[in-house]
Amino acid sequence: MAVHRIGIIGLGKIAQDQHLPVIKSNPDFELLAVSSTRGLSHEDAKYTFQDYRELLKLPDVDAVSICTPPQVRHQIAREALLAGKSVLLEKPPAATLSELEDLRVLAAKTGKVVFTTWHAQYNKAVDEAKKALAGWSIKRLLVTWKEDVRHWHPGQQWIWEAGGFGVFDPGINALSIVTRIMPEPVFIKTSSLEFPANRDAPIAANLTFSMSHGQGDLQAVFDWRQTGPQTWDIEVETEAGMQLKLTHGGSCLEINGRVVVQEEPAEYQGIYRRFDALLTIGHSEVDDAPFRLVADAFMIGKREQVDAFED
Ligand code: NAP
Repeated sequence: MAVHRIGIIGLGKIAQDQHLPVIKSNPDFELLAVSSTRGLSHEDAKYTFQDYRELLKLPDVDAVSICTPPQVRHQIAREALLAGKSVLLEKPPAATLSELEDLRVLAAKTGKVVFTTWHAQYNKAVDEAKKALAGWSIKRLLVTWKEDVRHWHPGQQWIWEAGGFGVFDPGINALSIVTRIMPEPVFIKTSSLEFPANRDAPIAANLTFSMSHGQGDLQAVFDWRQTGPQTWDIEVETEAGMQLKLTHGGSCLEINGRVVVQEEPAEYQGIYRRFDALLTIGHSEVDDAPFRLVADAFMIGKREQVDAFED
């Protein structure tokens, strides 16, 4: 199998924590180039650029991973596809649904691959939860995603700007699990969003969902003001009485109180295995289901102003 020669655009936290080491450990990929607006370089990359447009001019680069904030992803991805590169999109895949649709269409036109990555889906516990729930009617869903923004996003101003998604930056990970495991689609029924007086993105959100069938009690609570223990849990109860609980961001699964899966997350290894498969067969994978829920939550959300937030 051919090795995919790849470039990384944006050397921030996720590029350094996950993309760089995972690419290095995957023999199907060779890191050829990086681009960093701050001028960072990386020892594994043959070429380093400050402007991603220079990276896109390299004829040997087959694909790029775009690890920037979402507000600039569409423009970069568009130029990459037009330059003949396949594209891996960090989550959230764009700033708006229309931008993502544009990329899907452009990838088809250019014959290149576009891949929306939802890292939280790449957990065995999530796969097992999906299997366990298949075919059952759902009585209750409770998503509790509460973390300390000061700890996890220090100095990241873009998440507080419009298009940065605020608490939905982590919350969309939970929603990507929900859309993966639920046996039928869920819709946003109500949404209430708390915006700090000095910010353009929400610090907390409460959602309720509906389904086409049934009258389940389906809720999600996202909060960025959690200090002490952090919570990334999803509980589901079926009409037949099965109790399922995903914890630790989707890496552990309990069914009826018994631990079924408990694994160290290896999400990005799974992402790059999938990207290799997609590049090899030349197919795009565009999953906009989690993104649509967030768009709907903003569209019908009631907004409440809360205390100003300082880092
Ligand atoms: P980050 O640490 O702020 O890194 C983003 C990087 O993008 C910046 O450091 C900068 O790197 C580059 N950049 C910033 N503005 C840019 C612009 N206008 N044009 C081009 N590049 C720009 O953020 P992050 O935590 O890595 O998150 C990036 C994306 O990954 C987000 O969508 C986030 O949701 C997703 N993600 C993050 C995590 C996590 O744990 N942090 C986990 C999963 C997914 P250079 O100076 O090198 O260009």
